[in-house]
Amino acid sequence: MNLILIAPPAAGKGTQSELICNSYNINHISTGDLLREITKKNDEFSLSVKEKMEKGLLISDDIILKLIKDEIINSNNNIFDGFPRNLEQAKAFDLMLKEINQKIDYVIYMDIDKEILEKRISSRYVCPNCNSVYSFNEPDHECSKCSVKLIKRKDDTLEVYENRYKVYEESTKPIINYYKNQGVLYCVDADGSKEEVFANIKKVIGEI
Ligand code: ADP
Repeated sequence: MNLILIAPPAAGKGTQSELICNSYNINHISTGDLLREITKKNDEFSLSVKEKMEKGLLISDDIILKLIKDEIINSNNNIFDGFPRNLEQAKAFDLMLKEINQKIDYVIYMDIDKEILEKRISSRYVCPNCNSVYSFNEPDHECSKCSVKLIKRKDDTLEVYENRYKVYEESTKPIINYYKNQGVLYCVDADGSKEEVFANIKKVIGEI
């Protein structure tokens, strides 16, 4: 099964991907996490990726498509979190899947208002080791799985969030119609606890 999650930034794609992976034994492909791994190095390429991410700008399609190609070559059971992020990526992805006789089964659009997301940004912390996402009103918490100190992502400030949201509206939203026309789009309400949202997703993809 190939499943794509589309949502505005900070809507909980990563959290839901983790829940889906654990229950459905499916491979999690997060372009954001793959890119954050790249930014841990110190060469020129890594620094240019880091600079763009910290501003909330998209990384070039060539780089993203190469990352995806390397991932899907070994698996036909994937959840895509953060990809595709524009029409060019969506169209190139269709061709890439066709070449290896794969298809997209579900595209889930997580519907949630911007005002709710702006409030979430300030309380969002992530594990620098396993990328798990947490919500706390104050710093100094540890990851419950890795016992390392949680950090704030550099792009989780209100100012950068505005930019990320603008990029989402301009570049990512058009792919909703693209997948609607292909008959694979499902809309779920993403304003709720992580369990409630997961229940909404399960209604679409079915219980195992
Ligand atoms: P969120 O969903 O919270 O915005 P992500 O972790 O998915 O965060 O992405 C963080 C950043 O990584 C984006 O703002 C962008 O700079 C970059 N990025 C992730 N996926 C893509 C993609 N498919 N195409 C281009 N840039 C991407």
